[in-house]
This record gives sequence, C-alpha cells and structure tokens, in this order.
Amino acid sequence: MAQESLNPFITPDQNGNLGKHGGKIQHPALVTALAEIEEGFRKIIHDEEFIAEMKRLQATFVGRPSPIYHARTLSQSGAQIFLKREDLNHTGAHKINHCIGEVLLAKKLGKKKVIAETGAGQHGVALATAAALLGLACEIHMGVVDIAKEHPNVSRMKILGAKLVPVSEGAGTLKEAVDSAFASYMEQLDESMFAIGSVVGPAPYPEMVAYFQSIVGHEAKAQFESQYGGLPDEVIACVGGGSNAIGLFNAFIDEPSVDLVGVEPAGEGLDKAGRHAATLSLGKFGNIQGFNCYYLQEEDGTPAEVHSIASGLDYPGVGPQHCYLKDTGRGRYEIATDKECLDAFLRLSREEGIIPALESSHAVAYALRRAKELGPEKRLLVNLSGRGDKDIDFVLTKITL
Ligand SMILES: *Cc1c(COP(=O)(O)O)cnc(C)c1O
Repeated sequence: MAQESLNPFITPDQNGNLGKHGGKIQHPALVTALAEIEEGFRKIIHDEEFIAEMKRLQATFVGRPSPIYHARTLSQSGAQIFLKREDLNHTGAHKINHCIGEVLLAKKLGKKKVIAETGAGQHGVALATAAALLGLACEIHMGVVDIAKEHPNVSRMKILGAKLVPVSEGAGTLKEAVDSAFASYMEQLDESMFAIGSVVGPAPYPEMVAYFQSIVGHEAKAQFESQYGGLPDEVIACVGGGSNAIGLFNAFIDEPSVDLVGVEPAGEGLDKAGRHAATLSLGKFGNIQGFNCYYLQEEDGTPAEVHSIASGLDYPGVGPQHCYLKDTGRGRYEIATDKECLDAFLRLSREEGIIPALESSHAVAYALRRAKELGPEKRLLVNLSGRGDKDIDFVLTKITL
C-alpha cells in the first residue's frame, strides 16, 4: 500500500481549521511545543525509515492486518453485517495504532518521556504499552474516582512501568486529569511529549491521530474489495472523541456510494440532560480544552455533565473532523442507548462468539437496527473498535443471566 494513501482526505488548513472547527492552541506556554510536534509530524509522514519502522511494529507487534469477519448469524434479519476486528489487536483495541505512532514521533523528536491523561484507563494502557516497547518513560494522569473504578487497567499500567499520577481535584475524573497532565507537561516541555488519546485537542493532534488511525480504513477497503467484492454500503463506528470512526471513514470519504455513519451514546435518552453524551446530535459550537467543536454545554458555555454506559464514549466534545463531516452532510450521526448497547453486547457474544467492548457495542446496536430496514443485498461494515474483557464484570452488575 502506498504510504501517501494513508493521508487523511480531510486535511485542515494551516491554522488547523476545518471550516469553523479545530484550531491551534492559544496558550502562550504551549505554542512553541505544539509547533515542534507539528513540524515533526509533517516530516515523519514522508520519512521512509519512520514509516518502515511503524509498519514493522503494526505487523509484528500489534498483529495487523486485523481481519474482516462476516457475521452470518447476525445477518439473518436483513442486510449483511461485517466486522473490522480491531478487538484482535494487541492490547485489545484500536488505540494502540495511534499510541505507537505518537511514541515513535516522541522518540524521533529526542524526547525521553510521554505524558497523557486517561479516563477509563484504555489510553493509559495503550500508551504505557507503546512506551515500554520503545523504551520511553510514561506518565499517566488519572482521576481518583476513575482509579477506584478501573482497577485492572491501573494494575496494567503499573506493571508496564508507567508512573501513575492520581488527580483528586474537582470531580476526580477525565477533565481534571487532562488539566493535571497539561500542567505537568508545561513543566517538562523539553524532555517530554504530550500524547492525546483521540482526534481531539488543538492542532496537530486531530490530524495526527487520524493519520495514525487511517490504517484501519485503508486495510478495510482493500480487504473488502478483495474478499467480498466492491464496497460496503455503509461504514459504521462508535464516536467518543472520534478516532476509531475517522480511522475507518478516511479511506471511504471520496467514495460517494458509501455512507459514513457515526454512532453516539444516547445513554438513558436524549431527553435526559446529563445522562447521555450525544455531542453531535445535541451539542453547541464553542471552544473546549483548546479547540473548537460542537460540545455539550451549560448555558454559560462550561462543559456539561455527560454519561454513557461505555466510559470510553463519555466525553462532552468531539473531534473537528466529525463536526465538519456533519456540517457538510458527508457524515451521518446516529445514536444508540445504554440499553440497546447491552442488547448488542449480548447478541454478538451469544450469536457470534465475540465479546465486544461496550463502546463498540454502540456501533453494533445501530447496525442491528439498520439491517432490519434493508434487504440482504446491502452490506454494513462495522468497526469493532475493541474487545469486551474489560467490561464483563460491569455488565454482570447490569443484567441477570
Ligand atoms: C477509547 C475507545 C473508544 C472511543 O474513542 P474514539 O476516539 O471515539 O475511537 C471506542 N472504542 C474503544 C474500544 C475504546 O477503547
């Protein structure tokens, strides 16, 4: 595959803007640091040695390419459902794709350490893994409430050698962890690089993370064409910050016959403020954590409380690429509730023998609903962004078997 083909088709302008979304950091202390990262990023995408190393690790460490599986039992009620198996990657989700890219870039820039926030711990584990692999130190900031909730991931990060910084300010969750991680980063700009966990934040992060994730879509397109013939009618992915979705969408953006469908968490229902995280469905435009996008907000513009049964989806903002795809009409954004998510989680487990992450189960839930509306000749390709091992104990507190 020619590496140029990995470039995302939706590229921001020089100021990091896609329409009115995105943008560069305004915080004076960070302008130079992010400019250095951006310059490094522009170089590595044309650096054959870097790309060869990334490909080697994708193949031999992550286990790429991940297969596309035709879920025949789930396809019996209408359209055919196919799954891009990112759950089979080492560490169990798509996040390892951009973490390896970010840590390789940090190394190229001569940094000794990567710093990040984590909510449920998924990004923390993937980054700690990539840092262990490539010999960099890793510092992860995590709210105390999340630390108490996500024990296995906390243990994984410690075993992998990461330094965990507990954050007890405010609600002790993701937002405070981001602030804490940035404050720490500002004290060690020379030796460290901040590594964001999705296509969010100021430039160059959304573009850079999308670039590292676009392997998913380019693989999927080539695999689908050669194994099943032609293109799918819809490509479908859950949307938290939006990285697994944009990773899949990129390769299909200039294929007008393919619908791009993002699925947002409707939690307990869109009519219940604070109990969903349907950012694109109900958010308003503004600036959150250094970039412009639609986000769920209070009257005064502060980020609203959000909820999803899948902790990887409960973020009040969303990547600028998705805001842009929504504005231009190229992307379609649908929803799935907590209940639909749990139903899909169980159906995929029991009818296909695959336990999906609760995040990914949102995309599966939409596909199951959509399949019933379409004939058996239609084909839906779902990004199965991660595996559900992390969710099994929690799910059993929600349902009785
Ligand atoms: C983190 C996570 C997500 C949500 O993040 P995106 O940036 O929206 O992809 C989805 N699925 C899994 C398995 C995750 O770990």
